[in-house]
Amino acid sequence: MMYTQQVSTAEALWRGFTMRCPNCGTGRLFGRFLKVVDHCSVCGEEFSHHRADDFPAYIVIFVVGHAIVPAALAVEINYAPPMWLEFSIWLPLMITSALALLQPTKGAIVALQWQLGILGFESSKLRRLAILQPPVPGPTIAEQRR
Ligand SMILES: [Zn+2]
Repeated sequence: MMYTQQVSTAEALWRGFTMRCPNCGTGRLFGRFLKVVDHCSVCGEEFSHHRADDFPAYIVIFVVGHAIVPAALAVEINYAPPMWLEFSIWLPLMITSALALLQPTKGAIVALQWQLGILGFESSKLRRLAILQPPVPGPTIAEQRR
């Protein structure tokens, strides 16, 4: 594992959203569509123990629902197009936007867990803190005896 610099929460979230390793920002976070790699191919950071579960799907449903449902209602109220036209527009739009957002959202959630050191990333966070923030030297033994 290679820890060379502190990664801010915003930077880790962006790296995860762009489906890159939150630690180095270079390695790929996903092997397949929603399958997170076991470890980064560039820096070796471990991701096999992430616990994103259903949270990315809940976020995507919340965002897509709040973006598309009001638009669909506004079109229905103002223009009342035929049902077949509405289904042929809104249904593909909802499905494609949900599929497009799912992987970046999962990447951001895994990156957030990694950055905060929660849900399986506790030991990773402790290693990063130990390497990046060496302990502040205390008083010497001679100073302590005074
Ligand atoms: Zn990496």
